[in-house]
Amino acid sequence: MVDWCVSSSCFVAAGGIGYSVVRSGESAMPDLVTHLCAAQVIRRLLRLRLFPLFALGAVLPDLLSRPAHILFPGTAPFVVAFHSPVVLLLCCLLASLLFARPIRRACLGYLAAGSALHLALDVMQKQICPVYYYWLFPFSRWTWDADLFWPEQALLLLPVTIAVTALVTVLTRD
Ligand SMILES: [Zn+2]
Repeated sequence: MVDWCVSSSCFVAAGGIGYSVVRSGESAMPDLVTHLCAAQVIRRLLRLRLFPLFALGAVLPDLLSRPAHILFPGTAPFVVAFHSPVVLLLCCLLASLLFARPIRRACLGYLAAGSALHLALDVMQKQICPVYYYWLFPFSRWTWDADLFWPEQALLLLPVTIAVTALVTVLTRD
């Protein structure tokens, strides 16, 4: 089943969207476009300033884990740690050190907030693949998801998601 998960991720990555699977019984996530649309909507509604960092945070968990997962399927149980809040926060902290001290804290905040948004979307959908998200890693391998929708449903809704994002963008224009 893990192999199926990986091959599906490859299929989507090859499509350039970064989508991961879509049949019941597989590990999956909302696609990167959906993650970016959610980030854009929140950016416009909350008037966030450092959107590039917020958007980067919104796809960071998948950027940190999916390439290794796709290229080296055996690493899946290990890279899944990059989908856990503690590890992500450490990654954001390290990334924020690349910025000048006066804006470092803000950069950390935007990256961490974007990552939190990503995890919030991921936790809403169903997961059946053996490789779960460990929300309390490294303290526990406890996992949970809200079981609200299947990944393919997010894909089918993508045109609506993009339309709503465009509408919000237009309506909140300065
Ligand atoms: Zn994800």
